[in-house]
Amino acid sequence: MSFLAIEHAVKQFGGLRAVDDVSFSLKRGEIVGLLGPNGSGKTTLINLISGALPASAGTITLNGQQLTGLRRDKIARCGVARTFQLVRILPSLTLIENVKIPAVFGHKAHWGAAAERVAKDALAMVGLSERATMSAGDLTYIDQKRLELARALAAEPELLLLDEWLAGLNPTELEEGIKLISELRDSGLTILMVEHIIDAVRALCPRVVVMNSGKLIADEQTDKALTDPAVVTAYLGE
Ligand code: ADP
Repeated sequence: MSFLAIEHAVKQFGGLRAVDDVSFSLKRGEIVGLLGPNGSGKTTLINLISGALPASAGTITLNGQQLTGLRRDKIARCGVARTFQLVRILPSLTLIENVKIPAVFGHKAHWGAAAERVAKDALAMVGLSERATMSAGDLTYIDQKRLELARALAAEPELLLLDEWLAGLNPTELEEGIKLISELRDSGLTILMVEHIIDAVRALCPRVVVMNSGKLIADEQTDKALTDPAVVTAYLGE
C-alpha cells in the first residue's frame, strides 16, 4: 500500500491551475525529489499536502487517512512536517523554545520532560545543542535553516516535506546538509523534497517526480528523468 497517495490533486488560483490533476504516491521510507522549473507548482503542491492551502479538488491520504479537508494543525498531528523556502523560525525565542513548541503541538504531542527530551534530541540531530539557550534571531542563515529543520523533526513526523532546504548553502554546508538528509532517510523517515541542486537530488533521491505548468510530466528513476526529453524541454523553456 502507498504511504502518501496524491490522487488528482488540483489547486486553482482564479484562472490559473497551479496544480493540475497531479497523482503520484510514496512508499513508507521512500525519499523522492520534486522537480520542475520555477512556477511549475511545486510549492503549491507542498502547501496542499501540509494543509497550508486547501485543495480545489482531488484527495491526499497518508497511511490511508484522508488529509484533504483537514486543518493544518490536524495534518501536523497526522505526522506531516515541513520546512519553508523562506525560513520560518521564532527569532525572539531561544533555540530550545523554538523546538519545544512543535514537540508539544506536533505528531506525538509530548508534554513536560518528554517534550524537553524530544526538543533536545531535535537540536542535537542538526548540530545545534550547544546553542540551545541562544536567541534564534542571532543565528546565521545556515543555522536558521538547521533550526527550522529541527522544528520539523521535533514534531516527530512520519512524512517530511522539504522546500529547497539545501538552497543558499556553501559547498561545505551543502555536503553537511546532504549527509544530514541521508541520515534522516536512513532512520526510515519518508521524505518529499523540492530541490534544484541536481547533484543533491542524485545523491539522495533514487526517484523523482517532475512538474511543469501544474502538471506531472515525469515519475521515474532520477537518472532516467534527467535525460527524459519532456523534462529537458521543460527546463530549457525556463
Ligand atoms: P514553484 O514552487 O514550482 O516555483 P509555485 O507553486 O510557487 O511554483 O507557483 C505555481 C504557480 O501558482 C505560479 O504561477 C504562481 O505565480 C502561482 N501561485 C502560487 N501561489 C499563489 C497564490 N497564493 N495566489 C495566486 N497564484 C499563486
